Amino acid sequence: MERIIVTRNIPGVKEAAKQLPQDWEVWVNPSESSLSRDELLERSANATALLVVGDQIDREALSLMPHVKVLSNYGVGLDNIDLAAAEEKGVIVKNLPNEVSYSTAELAIALMLACVRRIPEADRLVRRENPFSWTPTIVIGNNLQGKTLGIIGFGRIGQLVAKMAQAFDMPIIYYNRSRKPEAEKLYNAQYRDLPDLLKEADVVSLHVPGGSETQNLIGEPELQLMKSSAMLINVARGTVVDEAALAAALKEKRIAAAGLDVYQNEPAVNPELIALDNVVLTPHIGTTTWETRTAMTKKAIDNIYQVLK
Ligand code: NAP
Repeated sequence: MERIIVTRNIPGVKEAAKQLPQDWEVWVNPSESSLSRDELLERSANATALLVVGDQIDREALSLMPHVKVLSNYGVGLDNIDLAAAEEKGVIVKNLPNEVSYSTAELAIALMLACVRRIPEADRLVRRENPFSWTPTIVIGNNLQGKTLGIIGFGRIGQLVAKMAQAFDMPIIYYNRSRKPEAEKLYNAQYRDLPDLLKEADVVSLHVPGGSETQNLIGEPELQLMKSSAMLINVARGTVVDEAALAAALKEKRIAAAGLDVYQNEPAVNPELIALDNVVLTPHIGTTTWETRTAMTKKAIDNIYQVLK
């Protein structure tokens, strides 16, 4: 008999679980909050599959789940799972490479627009000053149109951002560890090495995975290369950016703005960032739309079924 643990309540889970054989046992955490580590380990002790919703599954945790055959991760990024330990134990790890891309790319574009048009600042002004005093330069911003977009990490999400940015007539340059000749043609994108991209782009948008290889890819030296009018968008992983260096660059107006969905010490956010007006902050909502959440749940359950059957 298969025993499946869903570590948090997720949209559409009851409906999706109906596709599983009736004699498989499914336990869904009734709360949207994470289980304590102790409860997670206790519940997983007999489980044959886990639908992992943002939990850290390290080597020790894996050693305490002797029956687990599949970890179905509720996202594309796998930096929360010790992949080497899983492989050693013969545990299959599945993720959601296709379901999450569109809404995450949309959020990157939304943050770009929020930064150039200063939408959160404008919203705060209207709430603070009613009636507001209109002037020709009230909360004045810039067009996104025609600005050079520098995409770092030209995979699924990075390429969708390029596709969407074409609607704003943005010239596209990209940096990636491997060249993408087909995507270059599709999106009229030109390859740059990292320093050149940072010097040239008006908008730098990050779409590499997290993990040790990309840690602090954007630190003080990289921020120094950016234009003072440029903005940085991060919907990838907080670990990719040195947050203290970014806060200093924003405070000293060495770069113009930032739009961030992810944080170095998530869920904690550097208080220096919170104090700044030229940064737009969202609480890791790249995939938080009803359409995406429902599709993610369906596929994450199906990933378990495909392995266990
Ligand atoms: P993907 O298709 O694998 O694209 C990642 C790209 O980054 C690949 O083209 C890869 O190059 C490149 N890359 C990897 N390491 C690199 C390095 N060290 N230097 C330069 N380029 C590197 O992944 P994706 O589906 O677009 O997702 C990207 C990331 O977005 C995920 O890993 C996740 O962390 C994040 N994400 C965040 C949210 C959110 O809610 N904010 C939602 C979804 C995803 P190769 O092609 O050579 O492998």
